[in-house]
Amino acid sequence: MIVLDGKKTSQKLRTEIAKEVAEMIDNEIRPPHLVAILVGDDGASQTYVNAKEKACQSVGMTSSVYRLSSKTSEKELLAAVDFLNNDPDVDGFIVQLPLPKHINEQNVIERIDPAKDVDGFHPVNVGKMALGLDCFLPATPNGIIEILKHYQIETEGKHCVVLGRSNIVGSPISIMMSQKKYPGNATVTLCHSKTQNLAEITASADILIVAIGSPEFVKENMVKEGAVVIDVGIHRIASTTTESGFILKGDVDFAAVSTKASHITPVPGGVGPMTIASLLSNTLKAAKISRSI
Ligand code: NAP
Repeated sequence: MIVLDGKKTSQKLRTEIAKEVAEMIDNEIRPPHLVAILVGDDGASQTYVNAKEKACQSVGMTSSVYRLSSKTSEKELLAAVDFLNNDPDVDGFIVQLPLPKHINEQNVIERIDPAKDVDGFHPVNVGKMALGLDCFLPATPNGIIEILKHYQIETEGKHCVVLGRSNIVGSPISIMMSQKKYPGNATVTLCHSKTQNLAEITASADILIVAIGSPEFVKENMVKEGAVVIDVGIHRIASTTTESGFILKGDVDFAAVSTKASHITPVPGGVGPMTIASLLSNTLKAAKISRSI
């Protein structure tokens, strides 16, 4: 069994990005600038935003965080989005999800200028992704594609089962895996909470991509011998064995499933770091497009 090491793989991508950023700086071109809007004080969202900020700094990019109170109205948030859309010093920005319940996420996503939408969530980028056109690919699905590429996982003609149909992971990765290119050309089945005979379907997967948001949901009986298993889930589970008071688990029971899988991503250190590297890659791309490099 081979552990698909997202930490190592993302480091390779980051090194390539850092090289391009250094070249921009050498040529007296302002480095790419990523902004994150963080609304409220959700602990997990703060952790993700901090990680993105640190990642930017590690490759020489500029990063800023707009921290807004949980009481921020939708109108105020839309005004902040407008401001960043029009700020020539900002190449790309993200609005960290989830947003407080009183704000309509879709309204906010649709307000972002598609040219600065480095999360790839705007309908223009989603539509282009679905058509296989050049665009900002959503960071997590693109991170999965990059790790499959890095480990040269065969995908053509394989049965790829995607568990979960969210707009940010399940749905886009199911489209990307079915497209006529590598990694892709797979026969894809998309499963969700209304799927019947779920274990039977997942156990027929050559490649199983899991993004359902339920800790250690996938057990060994749901996995075929020799399958490639990609675990997108991240859960903080209370623990007395760590200093932080929690441990991270995925949607897959790693200990049990790794006895059957041929390849598997760990949590942490699998899809998470790949997602951040993809975000950096999109930010670099936005900066290059806006400055015609
Ligand atoms: P989500 O919006 O929470 O949606 C979950 C999906 O799973 C839905 O499509 C739901 O079906 C399906 N589902 C839930 N329970 C199910 C069950 N018992 N059987 C079959 N299907 C079930 O998903 P998400 O935003 O993609 O997040 C999934 C996980 O990935 C979370 O743990 C999240 O924290 C993590 N995540 C990690 C990264 C990363 O960078 N590593 C990035 C994004 C998300 P219905 O559509 O029918 O409700």
